[in-house]
Amino acid sequence: MTAQGYDVARVRADFPILATTVRGKRLAFLDTAASSQRPQAVIDAMAHYERTSHANVHRGVYELSQKATDAFEGARERIRRFLNAASVREIVFTRGTTESINLVAQSWGRRLGPGDEILITWMEHHANIVPWQMLCERTGAMLRVTPIDLRGELDVAAFEALLSPRTKLVAFTQISNSLGTVLPVERLLAAAKRVGALTLIDGAQAVAHQRIDVRALDCDFYVFSSHKLYGPTGLGVLYAREAVLADMPPWQGGGDMIRTVTFSGSTWTELPHRFEAGTPHISGAVGLATAIDYLESLGIDAVHAHEQRLLARATQALRAVPGLRIVGEAAHKAGVISFVLEDVHPHDLGTILDAEGVAVRTGHHCAMPVMDFFDVPATARASFGCYSDDADIDQLVTALGHAREVFG
Ligand code: PLP
Repeated sequence: MTAQGYDVARVRADFPILATTVRGKRLAFLDTAASSQRPQAVIDAMAHYERTSHANVHRGVYELSQKATDAFEGARERIRRFLNAASVREIVFTRGTTESINLVAQSWGRRLGPGDEILITWMEHHANIVPWQMLCERTGAMLRVTPIDLRGELDVAAFEALLSPRTKLVAFTQISNSLGTVLPVERLLAAAKRVGALTLIDGAQAVAHQRIDVRALDCDFYVFSSHKLYGPTGLGVLYAREAVLADMPPWQGGGDMIRTVTFSGSTWTELPHRFEAGTPHISGAVGLATAIDYLESLGIDAVHAHEQRLLARATQALRAVPGLRIVGEAAHKAGVISFVLEDVHPHDLGTILDAEGVAVRTGHHCAMPVMDFFDVPATARASFGCYSDDADIDQLVTALGHAREVFG
C-alpha cells in the first residue's frame, strides 16, 4: 500500500496472468502500451455472457436475443458515460483505434479534394498516418506534419503556423506510444478551431491512464481500443460528435446498417448503427464495459498518480544504467519509457530481458518516422499499467545489468 492508499498488491491479484512465470522467472510485464492484461472481472463477465446471454443482437424478438441486445447496448451506454459523450448515437463500435481512424478517413474524408489539408504530428502511430496518406492519394488533399524536437516535444508554434483555412482536419495522438510524450491537447484543439478545422484525438494511449471528457475537450472525433483499457482485443470505439457523424456517408455496407434494401438501391438506418455493418463483437462490448467499471473502481486519478510515481522511479533508475539513453524526455510524460543501450541492438536486448522474465517491447513501435528522427533503428520500451509495481522496475534494472555483462 502506498502513501496515497493505492494497494498495488491487491490490484495485481485481480490479474491472473501476473501470477504466471516466464522461463521459471517472475513475470515483469512491462508492455502495457502494446496491450494491457485483463482482470478476472473482465474474463468472468465475458464468460458469463457466453454462458447465459448469447444470441445475435438487434434482429431477434425472442428473449435471448433481447438479452444480448440489452447487454450490447448497455455497454454502449457505459462507454458514453465513461467518455461523457452527449448521446449513445455518438458511440460507434469498431475493431479498434486503427479501424476507427480508417472509418473517419474513408467516410468523412470523401469530401476532401485538391487544396484541402490534413495536419498530423511527427509522433503519430502508423494508424494515424497511413489512412490519411491513402486518403490524400485518392482525393488530392495534402498531408502536413508538425515537427518535434530532440526531447520528444511537439513544436506547437510550428503546429500553429501550419494551420490555415485549407486545414480541414487536425488529427493527433493524446500520448505518444513511442516516446510517452503527453501532448498539449487543449492548446492544439483551440488552435485548430480558430481555422475551422475538425479535430480527431487518438486516445489509444490515454484512455486507461487519465480521465477523458469529450464534451470538455470539445473534439469532433475521439478514438481508442478496448485492449489497451483492460478489455478484450478486436474491439474499439469511435466517438464522433453527432452533428458531424450525421453528415457522414456509411463506409461499410451490409446487415444492421440499412433501413431498406431493394435492387434499385438501399437506405440507411439511424446512428450509430449506420456505421456498424455486420454482427458486432458482442461479448467484447460486455468485456469493455466491465473493464471500465473495473478501472473506475480503482479510481483513474489514483491509477494516474501510481503510474506517474513509477515513471519517476524508473526514469531515475534507468538513467543510472551505464550506456543507457532514454529516447523521449518531454516535460509531461505518461508511463512509457523508450531507451537504447550502447552497442546492443534492441532486439538482442529484448531477448536477454525475456530470459529474465522481463517483457518489454522492442522495435519501431509502429512509429517509424520517430525512429528516423532520433536516428535509431528501434528502441526498447517499458510501459506501465495499473498493476505495474516497483518489483517490475527492479527486475528490469537487474536484467539490464545482465545484458551489459553479456555484451560488455
Ligand atoms: N494509436 C496509438 C497511439 C497506439 O499506441 C496504437 C497501438 O499501439 C494504435 C493507434 C493502434 O491501435 P490498434 O492496433 O488497437 O488499432
